[in-house]
Amino acid sequence: MIKSPWRGDFPIINNTQCESPYIYLDSAATAQTPASVIERMQHFYLNEYATVHRGVHRLSSEATDNMEQTRQDVADFIQAKSREQIVFTKGTTEAINLVANTFLPTFTQSGDEIIITDMEHHANIVPWQLLSERLGLTIKVWAMTSDGELLLDDLQALLSPRTKLVALTHISNVLGCINPIKKATSIAHQYGAVVLIDGAQGVMHQAVNVSDVGCDFYAFSGHKLYGPTGVGVLYMAKKWADTLPPWEGGGAMIDHVQLPMGTSYQAAPWRFEAGTPNIAGILGLGEAIKYVNHIGIDAISQYEEELMLYAEEKLQNLDSLNVYGNSDKRVGLISFNLGVHHAYDVGSFLDRYNVAIRTGHHCAMPLLARLEQTAVCRASFALYSDSQDVDVLVDRLNYIKKLLG
Ligand code: PMP
Repeated sequence: MIKSPWRGDFPIINNTQCESPYIYLDSAATAQTPASVIERMQHFYLNEYATVHRGVHRLSSEATDNMEQTRQDVADFIQAKSREQIVFTKGTTEAINLVANTFLPTFTQSGDEIIITDMEHHANIVPWQLLSERLGLTIKVWAMTSDGELLLDDLQALLSPRTKLVALTHISNVLGCINPIKKATSIAHQYGAVVLIDGAQGVMHQAVNVSDVGCDFYAFSGHKLYGPTGVGVLYMAKKWADTLPPWEGGGAMIDHVQLPMGTSYQAAPWRFEAGTPNIAGILGLGEAIKYVNHIGIDAISQYEEELMLYAEEKLQNLDSLNVYGNSDKRVGLISFNLGVHHAYDVGSFLDRYNVAIRTGHHCAMPLLARLEQTAVCRASFALYSDSQDVDVLVDRLNYIKKLLG
């Protein structure tokens, strides 16, 4: 039996309102929140509430200090060299849109190229498409192999002096594979292309060192890292922090405003953070990072690896279950279909038996097209998941199989 020593930290997982316990296997969509994170945000509203960067009064300056300390904690967590390289956003999606809307209009010309893979989440496809249409850029697709692998030779073959940006996911939200982000970055840099890594599925499963990877941008969301929704992070290499123009205008991002023109802007990262930020969310993210650090990301990786091996073995033994992706490289999740049965049917039945999985295209339609599927089931795990969750899933899948024939 693989039991999580941290399960008790999550109030919703231990919620006893259901007749039989609810099995939450949708952590790749959003991870549950530990009590300490919820309490931190509540504490802010109960005792510390004020906005940042504005007032000279004590509450405001304390909120500012706490937010800026969180920026430092985020920088340390992903091993960025300075907190000035950490921009707070609403999430991964906004972080990628920020890069698309600042880097591309400033540093590309019509006819230039962007490379993205066919295993990306829509958040790492559509922003590039929107800007490519506007700026006359060409998108080239780094296609994965039929095993779901991204080969560096294929990237090399696509790169040209016109390639300005390569964007790829650290860990696929459908296949769970870890991509070779460091090597891809180094190859792309040889061609002068910048590299954005979508880390939405990366940061919660293993240690990330952005300085070592050498990427130009790394984006992730708080809510997949045991933090709240509505807050995310964009890491940018110093060169970009110093040179990218602002993208949204408003309060907090300016240095001096005058009419009719001639406004000047703050330095990074504040230049990219117009308006009142999600202060409670940022503090919640900071607390989530403290929580993860307290356990140790390596201990989490090790625990999840053991659980994944167990889950893979159990699920592979279920006949008529088609599992997608390469089992050597799966982290945190397993996608599958049960025989010919539609994923929605399987997911709906599982829900009736108190098991939550994700079904559908997982915001990765091009990847689903490669799998020749319109929908797949995905069971995903976090540090609070355990082998009993897997046993219940497998038991219910067996039952559904009998039921549906
Ligand atoms: N990229 C990947 C790989 C994801 O899994 C997700 C979330 N499903 C996103 C981007 C988008 O994250 P968010 O909705 O938090 O902005």
